[in-house]
Amino acid sequence: MLITADRDRCIGAGLCVLTAPEVFEHDDDGLVHVLEQEPDARLEKDLRLAQQLCPAHALTLDTAAPHST
Ligand code: SF4
Repeated sequence: MLITADRDRCIGAGLCVLTAPEVFEHDDDGLVHVLEQEPDARLEKDLRLAQQLCPAHALTLDTAAPHST
């Protein structure tokens, strides 16, 4: 599973940070920073919700991507 964030689209609304704080944080510019690009599969539900809630449609979740470890 792979999660990516398009910082050019991000408007800093912070819903992803609230929904999955293990995976997202705000950087000094107030924009999303992905802490864990290949999060544990147990977080898939939270990540799907974050993707749906993001008002800028900045998040991309690829559940087919193989885990690198
Ligand atoms: S929810 Fe979307 S717009 Fe808001 S901080 Fe996260 S990626 Fe950026």
